[in-house]
Amino acid sequence: MEAEGIVFDIRRFSIHDGPGIRTTEFLKGCPLRCRWCHNPEGLNPGLEMMFWPRRCLGCGACLLACPQGAISQNGSTVSTDRSKCTLCGECVAVCYAEARQIVGRRMSVAQVMAEVARDLPFYDESGGGVTLSGGEPLAQPDFVRALLRACKKKGIHTALDTCGFAAWEVLDSIREYVDLFLYDLKLMDDARHRQCTGVSNALILSNLQALSRCGHAIVIRIPLIPGINDDEDNLRQTGVFAAALPHLLRVDLLPYHSMSSDKYSRLDMTYPLPATRPPSAERVAEIAQMLREFGLEVTAR
Ligand code: SF4
Ligand code: SF4
Repeated sequence: MEAEGIVFDIRRFSIHDGPGIRTTEFLKGCPLRCRWCHNPEGLNPGLEMMFWPRRCLGCGACLLACPQGAISQNGSTVSTDRSKCTLCGECVAVCYAEARQIVGRRMSVAQVMAEVARDLPFYDESGGGVTLSGGEPLAQPDFVRALLRACKKKGIHTALDTCGFAAWEVLDSIREYVDLFLYDLKLMDDARHRQCTGVSNALILSNLQALSRCGHAIVIRIPLIPGINDDEDNLRQTGVFAAALPHLLRVDLLPYHSMSSDKYSRLDMTYPLPATRPPSAERVAEIAQMLREFGLEVTAR
């Protein structure tokens, strides 16, 4: 049977997820809970209801449509009891304000490849391709393997944007279909990593070393989060670790931004870093320079 997966977004004409113009597929589900996550709709492996209170007209159509009685209204405030919601989509169908959306769609490899086929001319002209991101794509290993294999059969360049938290056997079974790994490195201290992401970094670091020993093309991506991983000690340990890898193309710094905080409220989640502000351009440049002193090629967005 053809592998299926849950995709929450397909972004065309992406220019930040690998070389050239790319189609980025965002897969649902992630084993980490990074406090700064900017794709909270990618955390849960299943489908979810998203609600935009600002778009809601208070018309009450969704209350009448819901067969579970999951939606209630108090004045102009409409809320959904997620424990009752079966994600049937009836409320989405009647909401003309587009205030409701079910996030995530079950797709076959053929369906994703049909989307990808629309962008083939752009890949040829720009040296682009397909990037699998998330969530954490390796949380859906069979789907990811089948997608990557389908891309390679068509000669499409592939990139995998990963946090690296997966059994080595999973990575080993897909790595031959990956042209470029975009590999997240967040924190070097294990206790701090557990505190800020919910998991140990031991597997992440050992997988990165193993991929590098195998000679893969790797770009390390560091999300720069003020007060979390931008201290001298962490940056120095990161520089030492990265410089010791036998194969590494580059380090990309991804400065924190809070543009995703609204997404949390649309999912009835609490944004974990309400007081954190983006680092200044000067600080980002300083950090890039510090990492270059380890002999690394470093870019910052
Ligand atoms: S149908 Fe849409 S606009 Fe009307 S109350 Fe429900 S969410 Fe609001
Ligand atoms: S998706 Fe279905 S069950 Fe869930 S709130 Fe909407 S109508 Fe009710």
